[in-house]
Amino acid sequence: MSKIRQIGCEEALKQLLEYLDQELGEQHSHEVDQHLSTCRSCYSRMEFEKRLKQRLQDAGRQEVPDTLKDRINRLFAEQNKN
Ligand SMILES: [Zn+2]
Repeated sequence: MSKIRQIGCEEALKQLLEYLDQELGEQHSHEVDQHLSTCRSCYSRMEFEKRLKQRLQDAGRQEVPDTLKDRINRLFAEQNKN
């Protein structure tokens, strides 16, 4: 088993986005894991990026709620009455 290299904050942050996208190789993500488990400031940075990413994904995936569609349809229907 290969030993996990100790990396510094700069290196960890540089790889953070790829880490969250799970695009880092196994070795590198272990290194980031290792750093995050020992560094509180990078850990909270990672949590922040993760939440941000999650929110962006949710926003992209979100469909127009049915109630809003209904409201728009009703608006159109009323306008067409005149
Ligand atoms: Zn750090």
